[in-house]
Amino acid sequence: MLVVMKAQATPEEIQAVCEQIELLGFRAHALPGAQRTAIGITGNQGEVERGSLETLSGVADVIRVSKPYKLVSRDVKEEDTVVRFPGTDVTVGGRNLAMVGGPCSIESREQAFAVAEKIAEAGAHFFRGGAYKPRTSPYAFQGMGEAGLQIMAEVRDKFGLRIVTEAIDNESLALVEQYADMIQIGARNMQNYSLLKRAGRSKLPVLLKRGMSATLEEFLMAAEYVMSEGNYNVILCERGVRTFADHTRNTLDLSIVPAVHQLSHLPILVDPSHGTGKRDKVLPLSRAAIAVGADGLMIEVHHQPDKALSDGPQSLYPEQFAQLMDEAAQIAEVVHRHLQRGVELTELAIPLAGAKRSAIR
Ligand code: PEP
Ligand code: MN
Repeated sequence: MLVVMKAQATPEEIQAVCEQIELLGFRAHALPGAQRTAIGITGNQGEVERGSLETLSGVADVIRVSKPYKLVSRDVKEEDTVVRFPGTDVTVGGRNLAMVGGPCSIESREQAFAVAEKIAEAGAHFFRGGAYKPRTSPYAFQGMGEAGLQIMAEVRDKFGLRIVTEAIDNESLALVEQYADMIQIGARNMQNYSLLKRAGRSKLPVLLKRGMSATLEEFLMAAEYVMSEGNYNVILCERGVRTFADHTRNTLDLSIVPAVHQLSHLPILVDPSHGTGKRDKVLPLSRAAIAVGADGLMIEVHHQPDKALSDGPQSLYPEQFAQLMDEAAQIAEVVHRHLQRGVELTELAIPLAGAKRSAIR
């Protein structure tokens, strides 16, 4: 169910409706839009008695949301969600493209800094890298753990890039929260519902990758899990699905981008690195992803891919990443988007980041 407030409804009226919903034993999610605020209701098994809400002051309408996903749906929020990163001009969603680059895994301080320097030079916004790696083999490199997170926090301090890194369980999520700017939930965990709920209670935005065999509806329902806990800053990421095709590691399903945009207000990035598994396919598929309307890209980059501890064959050389950024910027204009290079720190960010830094050390 959804309560649509009148355009001129006051904050007090919105608050009163939320209180009434909670009084009925449900959860209220106020989602402000450009024209009006909508209040999503979750926690109800059947229809909510609309009489007690319809008559409240400031209410325009109470409507049933027929889709299985509610908060994720455009029915609940018409305008695109724009996720902001405090203390910076970085956004995900809206007109500007968001570019994420970095190695598959954080392997050492030297490696992370060597890659981050090039990523920053090329004008990216986020530095990625796994400190906790969900590997197919228990004998493969599992990531540096908290030491890797510390290195990423240093990268943010030095280059201004925002940090996104994967949490693989509740324990690592609690640590990732202390160091990163965005929590990544990987493909293998897209249906780990307790982890999704935990991420939903975090203050940080969540980058949710599509499961290897997830349908669009399952993908959106996973995002709904995060949002239903009160975290509305969810960014989806297409990373390819398993098919019979064997010329690539996965089949990058670019058609999901317009499909997501039609059904949901959430932004969606594309990861052509895991989506193809092959370095020479990353640039062509990146061009296509921007053309099809992706809100940004996530790209694996390594300064010495032959020596990478994971995903070397799909990692771009830094020069290739720089070329990709140039081409993405050109294609963006054709599809009425824009690639603004680099991260601008707002004045507030410096003392804030400083406070966070000293807390971690
Ligand atoms: C990653 O981004 O490092 C990763 C492990 O991706 P995925 O979860 O899509 O396989
Ligand atoms: Mn990888």
